[in-house]
Amino acid sequence: MAGRTPAGRRGTGAVTLSQVAQRAGVSRQTVSNALNTPDLLAAATNVLRFFRNESCGKCVPCRVGSHKAHALLTEALASGSGVAAIEEEILQLEETLRLTSICGLGQVALGPVTSVLGMERGATAARPQPRP
Ligand code: SF4
Repeated sequence: MAGRTPAGRRGTGAVTLSQVAQRAGVSRQTVSNALNTPDLLAAATNVLRFFRNESCGKCVPCRVGSHKAHALLTEALASGSGVAAIEEEILQLEETLRLTSICGLGQVALGPVTSVLGMERGATAARPQPRP
């Protein structure tokens, strides 16, 4: 897709919204809405709700940790206290889930949260993965 731009656009090398939507398999409006979300804490809480709900409950770290992390984010969102007050606890939960959950869902459940909220060890950071 590199080098191809919609008609009438300059070839700056930048990825367009339409290209992101096409690659993600979602509508352009969905990407636009996500980028325009004013509250990243709300977005992170929403994404974590998905992982919490999809946890099958087989292993404790994922089952308990995803609920605990979601409760922390929900409380921070409701109280308006912000992320700083819960950052260390979220990071500890992220590491615990990543290293001790049985399957990939639990291992990555908090990655989007730490990444979106700009925490130290976000999903974009290279990090060791648990051995199978
Ligand atoms: S990590 Fe996987 S196996 Fe463990 S509770 Fe979560 S979804 Fe189930």
